[in-house]
Amino acid sequence: MQEIEALKALLNVPQKIVITTHQRPDADALGSSLGLMLYLQKKGHSVTVVTPTDYPDFLKWMQGNDEVVIYGEQTKQHVKGLIDEASLIFCLDFSALSRIDDLGDLVREANGDKVLIDHHLEPEDFAKFKSWDTGAAATAELVYDFIMDMGEEDLIDKGIAECLYAGILTDTGSFKHPNVTQHVFEVCAALVAKEADSSKVSKLIYDTNSEDRLRLLGYSLSEKLKVIPEYNTAYFALSAKELNRFNTQAGDTEGLVNYALSIGGIKMAALIKESDGIIKMSFRSVGDFSVNDFARSHFNGGGHKNAAGGRSDDSFEDTVKKFENLLKEYKSTLKE
Ligand code: 5GP
Ligand code: MN
Repeated sequence: MQEIEALKALLNVPQKIVITTHQRPDADALGSSLGLMLYLQKKGHSVTVVTPTDYPDFLKWMQGNDEVVIYGEQTKQHVKGLIDEASLIFCLDFSALSRIDDLGDLVREANGDKVLIDHHLEPEDFAKFKSWDTGAAATAELVYDFIMDMGEEDLIDKGIAECLYAGILTDTGSFKHPNVTQHVFEVCAALVAKEADSSKVSKLIYDTNSEDRLRLLGYSLSEKLKVIPEYNTAYFALSAKELNRFNTQAGDTEGLVNYALSIGGIKMAALIKESDGIIKMSFRSVGDFSVNDFARSHFNGGGHKNAAGGRSDDSFEDTVKKFENLLKEYKSTLKE
């Protein structure tokens, strides 16, 4: 991080700190936030993690989870107070304040200094301090580097290590994505040296499925997978009715899009789902096709080159049609 010395000086005296992250937090969003929270609390700061929305149950084992404040009707005033009073606001795992809806406006207008720690493309310029690296596999990796830059490796304990490990594990697709570097393994080795139980963390995240979730996966694979060889594309589109049939909970569709991407020769995969009145989309790609550009250009979204998301205000049916029609425009790139 540039300006680390100035931030270090600030962090040498007790501060009121808010840490926030993106909507529908995943393991990297929550793990990096809680890992950082636990570290800053050990340094004597008063720290609260505020998430814009709730998140899946399979993340709720993390140390510090009970202290998280989820923004909503009931907590609005409380959160506003926390943000108003904060001398420092850490923004983790997202690059633009629009990603956190109403919270974004509160953060933008707040007096506290903002610190961005993130690895997404095209960041908005709102932070005084930045640790922004699109080459990092996970924000959790950057939080680890930040603690090292602060010269405080000693403060990393098992609880912090497991939060950070969870973020790296999931954002690398269990060490399968091209974002895995030597540094990723070095950080993970250091976290394991701090007693992160890698097997336990994997089990808590990946092997606590409900029966409904597995049935939804089975249904999606057998009935809903649509493969379009002409465009090397495969996708799932799940309506609210279908999701309700399997009593779908937050996080139940996480990872589903990767099954479409796992088909040999497929260059782009998508999941289009209708939930809570909005259409949310996940995109994945292999190789040079940038789903960040695709999501940004057509679906108010963004993310990384090979993993991005977006949303649509059109109806579910129209969104699916729009997606299919757009493929024609990208035929040459998708067929390369
Ligand atoms: P996922 O498909 O797993 O929800 O998200 C994939 C990646 O894209 C993540 O890094 C996530 O932060 C980013 N992403 C997901 N949805 C959106 C969105 O609506 N806007 C932007 N800018 N990024 C998104
Ligand atoms: Mn991330």
